[in-house]
Amino acid sequence: LSQRVQRPRGHDEMVQVIDTFNEMLDSLESATKAQRRFIADASHELRAPLTSVQGNLAFLQRYLDDMPTEERRAVLNGAYEDTLRLARLVDELLLLARADASSDTVAIVDANKEVPEKKAGEIIELDHTLLQLIRQLRGRLSLDKSQLKLEVGHIEPVRVRGDEESIRRIMLILLDNAIKYTQGKGEVGLITVSVERKQNEGVFHVQDTGIGIDPGDLPHIFERFYRADRARSQHGTGLGLSIAHTLAEQLGGRITAESVPGEGSTFSVWLPLARSQQ
Ligand code: ADP
Repeated sequence: LSQRVQRPRGHDEMVQVIDTFNEMLDSLESATKAQRRFIADASHELRAPLTSVQGNLAFLQRYLDDMPTEERRAVLNGAYEDTLRLARLVDELLLLARADASSDTVAIVDANKEVPEKKAGEIIELDHTLLQLIRQLRGRLSLDKSQLKLEVGHIEPVRVRGDEESIRRIMLILLDNAIKYTQGKGEVGLITVSVERKQNEGVFHVQDTGIGIDPGDLPHIFERFYRADRARSQHGTGLGLSIAHTLAEQLGGRITAESVPGEGSTFSVWLPLARSQQ
């Protein structure tokens, strides 16, 4: 892949063909590099919980008869938590691998693979979907109300093209992060969601008053496995935002982030409006 074809002098058409060919080699080379890094990072991330499960089980195997019940239970719980993390990582990696398989770059390498339809067939009422999710979250999360408030801000009726499962998943990732990185700050926090229509797009925002993101980290947070140093203690996988980004792109949309360190962050997801609303 590192070989490039030399341009002959003169022969304009020939030069154009060669330039296009070399550009294709460049993008194939960078896609291959990215895939290699992804596999190396994924193996590394899978190794950690696996080593921990092995350690816990080996400990049990050796000392089981001499351990008090409480201690046995603690070691078993630790091992179980690690398997949950492993399962979550595998699910997230599968989702990203499937998304790669349906993208153009990989289609060159694996031309016979069935490519899924673009996921933007349904009409989704963005405001309803978001409000429904907030209601469910309020019921499920036992948010410590003195520490964290989840509020609904400005809401307009907005219909977008998309698929409900992907949109809910993006919303959940952003809300989960907003909660994680606001509760982690150790002060009373506020998370506000809103929905609006902007030109040809429907957009929803998840705004928090959490720890914020340093300007040096901000350009990288959508990369796979990227975690800002301050976030490492939160036990995330570092894949949530890259999944949200991939899903938004599959829907023909995009996701943006703004943040002030120490003050909070706002994530916005922009999706194409349904034709009836344009
Ligand atoms: P993680 O599993 O670590 O949360 P994500 O891909 O969801 O991984 O996010 C990547 C990184 O972006 C996080 O590790 C954190 O540094 C930063 N981040 C994401 N959301 C927020 C937020 N609402 N507030 C502050 N930092 C955030």
